[in-house]
Amino acid sequence: MTPTASQIAAHLAEVRARIDKAARAGGRSGADVTLIAVSKTHPAEVIELALAAGQRHFGENRVQEAEAKWPALKAKYPDVVLHLIGGLQTNKVKDALSLFDVIHTIDRPRLAEAIARHGAETGALPVCFVQVNTGEEDQKGGVMPLDTDAFVAECRDVHGLTLAGLMCIPPVGDPPAPHFALLKKFARRNGLAGLSMGMSSDYEKAAEMGATHVRVGSAIFGARG
Ligand SMILES: *Cc1c(COP(=O)(O)O)cnc(C)c1O
Repeated sequence: MTPTASQIAAHLAEVRARIDKAARAGGRSGADVTLIAVSKTHPAEVIELALAAGQRHFGENRVQEAEAKWPALKAKYPDVVLHLIGGLQTNKVKDALSLFDVIHTIDRPRLAEAIARHGAETGALPVCFVQVNTGEEDQKGGVMPLDTDAFVAECRDVHGLTLAGLMCIPPVGDPPAPHFALLKKFARRNGLAGLSMGMSSDYEKAAEMGATHVRVGSAIFGARG
């Protein structure tokens, strides 16, 4: 079912209020937490309802899908900030960087190198997060916990990337808090301020525990088909 404008506006307000409350419970301010509305699978008409309600940060997980929806929306709303939250193939880097402002899923040297090289060529680098596979799941992207410090150092020292922070997706069914705590520990010891963590089921816990970016889809747009 396509949500209505008032439903989307109400969901955004509700999620925002819950983030603010959770951040305060963690001794922080809601202003420290950027809400990324994850619009993957949803058509441009639905995304426009969120834009009309004032939402400006959006997340997509596939370059091709984003290319079909976002150039027109970005032309209409130039202050949109688009976040890539899904895996990125090296041969899609150029396309991705022409559209996305923030990449959350850097997890291997060749990808870091391709992003850095493209940035040097165009003079425009995205904001970069390293994805950490905190649950050490085979099917999931992200650098393994034990390799994280070395990979962060390689991104900086070998590829010359300025990193904003770390990102994780806890395993389905696991309590998320230990994963969030691990990500925060790794970020701290690498001098990284950004923490991209928390989805519809756990964004309040994430906001309480220090998330700077929460990625919320279904709580805003409804269940994906
Ligand atoms: C789809 C997705 C989300 C949003 O998931 P919801 O449960 O719908 O909030 C967040 N992060 C990533 C990486 C995703 O792929």
